[in-house]
Amino acid sequence: MGRGLMSSGAFLLLATLALWIADAVGSLSPARDASWSSWTLKGGIALLGAGLLLRILSPVRNQIGRGHCAVCGSAVERGHVYCRDHLQETVNAYRDRSHDKMPRTRRGPSSSS
Ligand SMILES: [Zn+2]
Repeated sequence: MGRGLMSSGAFLLLATLALWIADAVGSLSPARDASWSSWTLKGGIALLGAGLLLRILSPVRNQIGRGHCAVCGSAVERGHVYCRDHLQETVNAYRDRSHDKMPRTRRGPSSSS
C-alpha cells in the first residue's frame, strides 16, 4: 500500500519534471504547463507524503499488534492481553467475583441485580 503510493508519487514527480523539461524546451505553452505541473507536483508530493507516512507508521502498528497490556500498556508477548502482573490481577478479580456469587448467604444482598 505504502509502496504503491510512493511509486505513484514518484511517477507524478517525474511527470512534473518531464513537464518542466518540456517547458524548458518549449514544446508546451507556458500556461498549460503551469497548471499541469502544479497539479502533478501537488499530487506527487501528497502521494509521496502518504506513502512515507504509511511506511513510518507500519512498524509502529506492528508493535501495537504485537501486544500491550490492556491496563498499563507495557509490552507483552504476542497474543497476550495483559502483562504478568495485571493478568494475575484480572484472574484474582474474576475469581473474587465468582466467589462472591457462590456464597450468597454470607455477605447479604450486596450485589444482586
Ligand atoms: Zn499491565
